[in-house]
Amino acid sequence: MVKDITDEKQAKLETEKTLEYLEESKQRYKSLFHHNSDAIFSLDLSGIVTNANTAVQQVTQYKRKELFGLSFSTLVVEKDQSTYHDLLNQAKDGETGFAQLRLINKVGETVTVSVKVTPLIIDGTLFGMYGILRDITDFVEAQKRLAESEERFRIITENAHDLISLIDDSGTIIYCSPSYQQILGFDNHEYEGNLFLHNIHPDDTSRINEVILKSINSGELFTVQFRQYNHEGDWVWSESNGTPVFDKHNRFKHLVVLTRDITIQKEYEERLEYFAHHDPLTGLPNRRYFRECLTEEVNKVSENQQRLAVMMMDIDHFKMINDTWGHDIGDWVIEEFGKRLQQSVREHDMVGRLGGDEFVILLPEVESELVAATIAQSIHQTMQRRWQKDGQTFEVTTSIGIALAPPGGATEFAILKCADNALYDAKEAGRNTYKIKEL
Ligand code: GH3
Ligand code: MG
Repeated sequence: MVKDITDEKQAKLETEKTLEYLEESKQRYKSLFHHNSDAIFSLDLSGIVTNANTAVQQVTQYKRKELFGLSFSTLVVEKDQSTYHDLLNQAKDGETGFAQLRLINKVGETVTVSVKVTPLIIDGTLFGMYGILRDITDFVEAQKRLAESEERFRIITENAHDLISLIDDSGTIIYCSPSYQQILGFDNHEYEGNLFLHNIHPDDTSRINEVILKSINSGELFTVQFRQYNHEGDWVWSESNGTPVFDKHNRFKHLVVLTRDITIQKEYEERLEYFAHHDPLTGLPNRRYFRECLTEEVNKVSENQQRLAVMMMDIDHFKMINDTWGHDIGDWVIEEFGKRLQQSVREHDMVGRLGGDEFVILLPEVESELVAATIAQSIHQTMQRRWQKDGQTFEVTTSIGIALAPPGGATEFAILKCADNALYDAKEAGRNTYKIKEL
């Protein structure tokens, strides 16, 4: 009996091929499941874990086998239970759902994961669910830190009493703190987009430019004082401290600038400067300032061949005024004496107080002895006017010594010494008089 089994052989061969194909496909699926870097698990319809790959182990710290038979909900924190159950119900309705959940791992730590749950349907029947987990703890933590850092930055800039600005590499302001509103009266957002130098006193711009360029070239911080406009158009003295910021290729990127209103400091400096050069009682230039001016004038006359004179005055018997009427009256006499001197001189003459009851006048451009004598006489006349204070009347006279320098001048020391000698002579001559000495 001979039987044609070609078909049977053919069928057997095909079956073997299909089985081989199925086996290969199963292996591929297994490999895809087990070696996937995402954590994959499967659940039955009641939420019990039926399978899990090794990545689940990394996320939960549980061994795969330990998870089998466990209700996945036991891993989910109390607060996220309802989100988790919504996901399951969604999957049971045949839909895929996503959520962010917090799980408690085997060692009790909270792990934040993103979860995707997909229904597992075979031949139209729902068998369970597939879940894919991704550990996003670090990402959530980084986001939280970023939000906190932004919040801190916002608190600092919104509450800073300094002006904070960020300037790009073209010199344009790209950020201004809200303090621009309180300090300069400008809306900070409107201020942004302008050039850093747009609102600065024209006399200060080139100096600021220079300082900033130097800072960018050297990479060092800069400090600069300048005047800028406020919203009303008044100058505000300000001090900026700036830091250049470079990218990783060492290219200049930004300037971070902190600016303070230093009006009060400037006023204080001006006052200090004033008191360093003026006598507080009379407001007149003091000895130091007088000598500086005399030096300047001596240098000037040595060039233009003019004559200058220095007049030194000392109140006669001033001690008696103090002793008889007290120091307050003495002070008033000194003040009044200074005022009267100023009324007796020419516009460009300079009156100073050397100390005590001793005063001095710098007379530039004195053509002759006569000019100096006329001024001395005028002083004596002024002093003859009534001296009255708190119902009391006094008499105040002064002795005057005048040094007349030659054309082209003399040394400052010689001029002062000569005036002092002339004053001594006037005292010797019985006071209330003047003496002129030529150098
Ligand atoms: P003379 O005619 O020789 O100048 O006699 P005098 O009494 O004026 O003597 P002198 O010029 O040497 O004395 C100056 C006095 O001025 C001495 C000091 O007690 C007093 N004095 C110095 N500074 C002040 C001051 O700021 N206020 C007051 N009230 N008195 C001062
Ligand atoms: Mg005196």
